[in-house]
Amino acid sequence: MQKIYGIMAYIFDIKRFAINDGPGIRTTIFMKGCPLHCVWCHNPEGLSEKPVKLYTKKKCIGCQSCVEVCPQHNLVLTADGIQERGNCILCGRCTDECPTLALEMAGKAWQMDDLMTIVEKERKVMEDSGGGVTICGGEPLMHPDYLCELLDELGRRHFHRTVDTTLFASEQTVIRVAERCELFLIDLKLMDSELHQRYTGVPNQQILKNIRLVSSKGCPFWIRIPLIVGVNADDQNLEQSAKFIAGLPTQPEMVNLLVYHDVGKGKHARMGTTYNPEAIHMEAPSEELQRHALDIFNKHHLIAKIGG
Ligand code: SF4
Ligand code: SF4
Repeated sequence: MQKIYGIMAYIFDIKRFAINDGPGIRTTIFMKGCPLHCVWCHNPEGLSEKPVKLYTKKKCIGCQSCVEVCPQHNLVLTADGIQERGNCILCGRCTDECPTLALEMAGKAWQMDDLMTIVEKERKVMEDSGGGVTICGGEPLMHPDYLCELLDELGRRHFHRTVDTTLFASEQTVIRVAERCELFLIDLKLMDSELHQRYTGVPNQQILKNIRLVSSKGCPFWIRIPLIVGVNADDQNLEQSAKFIAGLPTQPEMVNLLVYHDVGKGKHARMGTTYNPEAIHMEAPSEELQRHALDIFNKHHLIAKIGG
């Protein structure tokens, strides 16, 4: 793994011209690794801290360049496309060779200078639109040293810095990051800790505590709630969420209600893993339910909108 100012972590995507990751037009950097495993995760390729390979059969032309280059003899072309023998060392040679991007590697260690070259390309667009750079994941707070180096460098270059996070981290980490960004986008998935544990793999006490911490320090923040029928779009959870947010020492600038979609499904298929293995019922809320959810937050004098 390469190093970024001596500290290591992987990045699995860089999205330019992002318009839903904070104010204005932004460049969004996706860091790998997440301590949560939400059933509906949109970016399952970001869950592991290590790189993962994705294979898209319909893009594969059967040229076998990947098979020939693999030092581990891990790959074989079958009637079902490329299959693995279980010897992969994630060297990336097959993905580098694949002419059609049927094989891709999600996760690469970027040198800071290279990362800044990408970010600097959009400086004018960001400045003209009131945008900046958003760091998300995965969970960026899983790599606090790396994240702080990155935020410091962006700060030296006067970019507006947003961190998109679950806040499932130590108080000390949250404080370090809060000193280095202009805005938090904070996920609030479920108020009931047992249900939170069931659907995300972790309880929510630390998250709620850290939301209070961010709020009490006066850091600007937005709250983002996925709206998922079958999981959290019921009146009880929405009322409790609105009440909790309205009772914070300072209010979020915005509450974003994000309508469920199953974009993670196709990515799981490309990774060879299963989306929603327990077949938990999840669906997008109707427009009527979306309006109803907005009413609940407005009733608590919160600025809320559908979407990011
Ligand atoms: S990443 Fe390396 S070891 Fe793994 S299948 Fe590709 S070439 Fe082989
Ligand atoms: S190099 Fe790419 S296109 Fe060629 S066989 Fe391998 S996966 Fe398919």
